[in-house]
Amino acid sequence: MKKDDCIFCRIANGEIGSNTVYEDEDFRVILDLNPGSKGHMLILPKEHFDDLFELSDEYAQKLMLVAKKVGLAARKALCADGINLVQNNGEAAGQTVKHFHMHVIPRYEGDDKGMVNWTPHDSDPEEQKRIEEAIRKQL
Ligand code: 5GP
Ligand code: ZN
Repeated sequence: MKKDDCIFCRIANGEIGSNTVYEDEDFRVILDLNPGSKGHMLILPKEHFDDLFELSDEYAQKLMLVAKKVGLAARKALCADGINLVQNNGEAAGQTVKHFHMHVIPRYEGDDKGMVNWTPHDSDPEEQKRIEEAIRKQL
């Protein structure tokens, strides 16, 4: 179902214009308005899902094929050296638009390494075991 007050629903369904690089029955892939790199794209489902937790299995299954398709095309077209797939869920994770989207970010040798980065910490084997078990229990 699409939501009238959702900007990405309106873009995905063509009510608001965008730089569309790919479209099929389920998805529209657009250029990000404020790109982190040349060719930064967003994959938008045409149906509204707030985030990954809501995304239907059907859309989830098709999503990676679209990411692969546009990622390969951008790598070729823009001579990118790599591609990051980034997908934020929840404010704590940096999600600013509450309509599921996946970022496809072409990367170039020598570009801003901080764009997709985290600080690696030492891990404690006992704590890792507790975490492993806690997650396993929920599956
Ligand atoms: P988030 O932080 O939620 O993962 O990413 C939202 C992304 O959407 C940002 O990179 C932002 O630049 C992009 N964005 C927000 N509004 C618009 C818009 O109206 N059009 C386009 N093309 N991109 C948008
Ligand atoms: Zn929406």
